[in-house]
Amino acid sequence: MAGISINGVSKSFGSVKVIDDLSLEIGSGELVVFLGPSGSGKSTLLRMIAGLESIDKGTLLIDGTRSEHLAPGQRGVAMVFQNYALYPHMTVRQNMAFGLRNIGLDSRIIEERVRNAAQILEMSELLDRRPAQLSGGQRQRVAIGRAIVKEPKAFLFDEPLSNLDAALRVRTRVELAELHQRMRATMIYVTHDQTEAMTLADRIVVLNNRKIEQIGTPMEVYLRPKSRFVAGFVGSPG
Ligand code: ADP
Ligand code: MG
Repeated sequence: MAGISINGVSKSFGSVKVIDDLSLEIGSGELVVFLGPSGSGKSTLLRMIAGLESIDKGTLLIDGTRSEHLAPGQRGVAMVFQNYALYPHMTVRQNMAFGLRNIGLDSRIIEERVRNAAQILEMSELLDRRPAQLSGGQRQRVAIGRAIVKEPKAFLFDEPLSNLDAALRVRTRVELAELHQRMRATMIYVTHDQTEAMTLADRIVVLNNRKIEQIGTPMEVYLRPKSRFVAGFVGSPG
């Protein structure tokens, strides 16, 4: 399992700074939620951890190794996107196996991992379908399954439920919490939804305007917001 250490990291796109001197420690096995409004830098931060975006300044350590020494595929992280990013011409089984075939894993091990992930996500009967034959919720489960089969040390979720209807969002959220209980993997979960943050997080990192406004447990953030912004955003009492 991966601990992630972010030290004084900054990031600009052109002349626009989007992350400013940000530091954060994420413990192995922790479920941390990045909560903040649209444009606050949540996805950029997640993409830097995944290695999909470079960092301009500062250091990022994954399990103690500096990120510049690790290609995205070597980081032991798996990202789940909001738009699922499934291959339409492939079956569920093929979608889940694709990344594993690329790294040359034995086909029997691949099949075993796919079946195991499908069982965890209760979608064994969907393995031969194509994405077009699935509901939105089922597609998102495939996207999560594709991350599980990689057996990552850390899962990175970028607003994974925002395309689902309200009832399904609640159900999938509960399933993700159970998945975390079961796998004990490090999880970073990006959302702008304070209810999701409150119900899922071990710790919430509130992001606003390029910076961390507050880090704390859901209760700390809710009951003792450090700023007017945090109070307003999480809907604190009083
Ligand atoms: P969030 O995920 O919190 O909505 P993002 O990390 O996507 O925020 O974006 C933070 C800021 O960086 C926004 O102002 C966004 O427009 C900008 N941004 C993100 N990616 C790029 C990019 N590839 N090029 C230019 N600007 C970007
Ligand atoms: Mg985003």
